[in-house]
Amino acid sequence: MPRGLWGSRETGSSRCFADVAAAHGIETRPSAEVYDLAIVGAGPAGLAAAVYGASEGLRTVVLEPNAIGGQAGTSSMIRNYLGFPRGISGGGLAHRAWEQAVLFGAQFVFTDEVAGLGLRGDDRVMALSDGSQAAARAVIIAAGVAYGRLSIPALDRPIGAGCGPAPGYGDALAAALGITWPAVLCSGPMRRR
Ligand SMILES: Cc1cc2nc3c(=O)[nH]c(=O)nc-3n(C[C@H](O)[C@H](O)[C@H](O)COP(=O)(O)OP(=O)(O)OC[C@H]3O[C@@H](n4cnc5c(N)ncnc54)[C@H](O)[C@@H]3O)c2cc1C
Repeated sequence: MPRGLWGSRETGSSRCFADVAAAHGIETRPSAEVYDLAIVGAGPAGLAAAVYGASEGLRTVVLEPNAIGGQAGTSSMIRNYLGFPRGISGGGLAHRAWEQAVLFGAQFVFTDEVAGLGLRGDDRVMALSDGSQAAARAVIIAAGVAYGRLSIPALDRPIGAGCGPAPGYGDALAAALGITWPAVLCSGPMRRR
């Protein structure tokens, strides 16, 4: 578990990220208002939904437990995205989409996972894993996929260092020269959410 220091306070739990984010002015809690549109996940699908929802004047919130970009955010080069004939890094693409959505008024909340969805009258209520809630008139679930892991530490080490589960997309190929591990595994089981 990461440990962090902020001011005189030490945080040594999963709340570390939330504490540091809040200290930097990043929103970590949805407001009590009922949004027009809530989007679960800030991968490419969630970011696109945020741009179009907010640009149509909807009060839009994006709920994301990690970081913008989702799987695409880990790619060193995406070459098949509309409008980028020479390619763009996943991080660059996500940042541009986030900026575009924010300029249209979308709110991003980096918070706990959305763990449940229910109805309250005409509203949809999302239960966050810390027990709090967010409400909206409409919800788009853009939670993507999570890759299954084999629970073998040696295989987990290269993750995030240039090796990904989609070598055909360019990530592992582009970074292959920099990888010094004796073996690189670039495939694995996929779990649908
Ligand atoms: C290394 C790599 C390179 C790739 N390169 C290419 C490429 O070049 N071209 C291409 O077309 N595709 C590429 N892909 C595939 C592409 O990235 C995915 O198809 C795309 O990211 C899917 O977008 P998404 O928004 O549907 O889901 P994801 O990217 O999976 O994003 C889902 C988001 O939802 C969040 N989330 C999940 N569960 C919850 C929850 N309960 N509550 C709140 N938030 C939640 C996650 O944290 C995540 O941010 C690549 C994938 C990888 C891994």
